[in-house]
Amino acid sequence: MKKLFNSFIALILPASIVLAQEISEPLHRLTTVPISQVTIDDPFWSPKLEVWQQVTLQDCFSKFDRDGAFTNFDRVRLGETGDHGGPPWYDGLIYEMIRASADFLAAHPDPELEKQVDGYIDRIAAAANRSPDGYIETWTELMAPNHRWGLNGGDDLWQHDLYNAGALIDAGVHWYRATGRTDLLRVAVGMADDLCEKMGPPPKVNQVPGHPLGEEALVNLYLLFREQPQLKAQMRGRVDEEDYLKLAEFWIDDRGNHRGRSLNWGSYAQDDLPVFEQQEMEGHAVRDGLLCAGLAAAGNVTGRADYLTTAQRLWDNMVQCKMYVTGGLGALPNIEGFGADYYLPNQTAYCEICAAAAGGFFDRNMNLTFADARYADALERELFNGALVGVSLKGDRYFYDNPLEVDGEHERWSWNPCPCCPPMFLKLMSGLPGYIYAQEPGAVYVNQFISSHATLTINNTHVNLRQTTRYPWDGRIKLSVEPGQAADFTIYIRWPGWCARAPRLTVNGRAVENPEAIHGYARLQRTWRTGDVVELSLPMTAQCFQANPKVESDLGRVAIRRGPLVYCLEAVDNGGHVRNLSIPRRGKFQVLWRPDLLGGVDIIKGQAVSLEQPSDGSNAALNLPSSKTIVRKNVRFTAVPYYAQDNRQPGEMEVWVAEYDD
Ligand SMILES: [Zn+2]
Repeated sequence: MKKLFNSFIALILPASIVLAQEISEPLHRLTTVPISQVTIDDPFWSPKLEVWQQVTLQDCFSKFDRDGAFTNFDRVRLGETGDHGGPPWYDGLIYEMIRASADFLAAHPDPELEKQVDGYIDRIAAAANRSPDGYIETWTELMAPNHRWGLNGGDDLWQHDLYNAGALIDAGVHWYRATGRTDLLRVAVGMADDLCEKMGPPPKVNQVPGHPLGEEALVNLYLLFREQPQLKAQMRGRVDEEDYLKLAEFWIDDRGNHRGRSLNWGSYAQDDLPVFEQQEMEGHAVRDGLLCAGLAAAGNVTGRADYLTTAQRLWDNMVQCKMYVTGGLGALPNIEGFGADYYLPNQTAYCEICAAAAGGFFDRNMNLTFADARYADALERELFNGALVGVSLKGDRYFYDNPLEVDGEHERWSWNPCPCCPPMFLKLMSGLPGYIYAQEPGAVYVNQFISSHATLTINNTHVNLRQTTRYPWDGRIKLSVEPGQAADFTIYIRWPGWCARAPRLTVNGRAVENPEAIHGYARLQRTWRTGDVVELSLPMTAQCFQANPKVESDLGRVAIRRGPLVYCLEAVDNGGHVRNLSIPRRGKFQVLWRPDLLGGVDIIKGQAVSLEQPSDGSNAALNLPSSKTIVRKNVRFTAVPYYAQDNRQPGEMEVWVAEYDD
């Protein structure tokens, strides 16, 4: 069956519903269920998480070490100058690796890994201790010591001082939450205090990050000290968490204001206009995604209407007009960034893994801020497609850019002079346990379908939730509810936007007819008792669908999707070529479970037509516009999940396949 979907998100609210009314109403603000309260035991995700923790983390740490990323800290400690290993943002990438390690450890304790990261933290802290004001940034200290924070003729667009500072703050918070240790947090607070002292409205310095990230990090630092004020005593100076929130707001509010600042980074770094006047996602996609993630996080905490409306406007633009079907973000290689609305070429698509991860963080913060399932839909799209494609199945080869059509020349690499994507990938994926559930008073939200066990407190009652599923291969999801005693509360279950028809929902085997729906969730409100079981059955039909007709590069083409997974055709499964294939618009597909292939995947098979150069002259010939004579052959095609591409021999790959009307 052919369906006409928007190219990007299947369920899009018209722009007129831009929630202006909702902002004036009390928002459903959600809180996360921390990683430490959720255990994933899932046939799809658990083996992957194990590979990323056991293989990918170590692979990246060892390659960063080989590049001198840790030696940079030692050399700063020794007072040396020159010869920085790697680009200026290497400190930030190491901090991102530490944040990811912290989240992996919060889910799966690993004393060896913890000891290893402690060793790195000792070296970072020793370098920071050398500086009387707590400043630590190895590139600037070794290469341009007068240009701290990009000041005095420096340029933070290149130096990434403030990006690195944000990543340090982030890592300090996550390391403390995972291990209870404060050594890295103390370094981070030293940096944050120095920043708060120097940057802000006049007479302080008008400096905002050349690469956003610190905005959300400061919000999270604020939240940590607000939740745990006793921690302040363990820091070196006097901590006032309000300062951190104020600086985050300044960095958002003053972007686009160049008074007293010699550099204007323009739209590339979202610096051409005040953020609140920006109408669309622009410039470098990772920068804008992280800026917006910070905007949503700050909006959640402050409730500021300008933050909330801007975040909604930009998110709608991102998802409706600038996102590939895979969740890929950034059409333009020359700026690693966004093009005009609906400009989404396939062969030259940039779609950096970091941008997919940044988009995922933006989605997640929007879901927490607005309690709307469409944001969890978008996060799901990144998790299963745009971000997941970033690391090979064995865990040691990586993608940076991700075109949707490949002629055979695009392969994963084992390392790169700018290896920013593996740490961002690990940051996103290590947080997975925390994306499954969310809470508000009296309610729990089921945002992602992943076999897991969560321990919660709802209305002062201890509740165990057990989710069992083979998603995304099977659409059946079973949720066992085990409250310590009978208790009234609400369970919201996401009704995915990709569902072509209504899912079937039962409680204790009885169908729930027309469940109450709110913001994309089915609402189940009742007195829950141990033994209660909720079952959801999602229709997992393999489907062809078309892009929004405004996307020129997808005209006459269809993509194949099943549940949350986008599929692609690879040469290795299709006789060596795929770009010569057309598939029937109303074709019937066959879904086959292949446990032996690509770590276990459902493949999709169907009828196709192959256009080829004649070999023996026995087939009927067609005349193409080029007047070249070619041969039309009926063949069977095989599609595999997009995320699993390029794990065998390299070759052509295509997501949007030419269609014909049968
Ligand atoms: Zn990257």
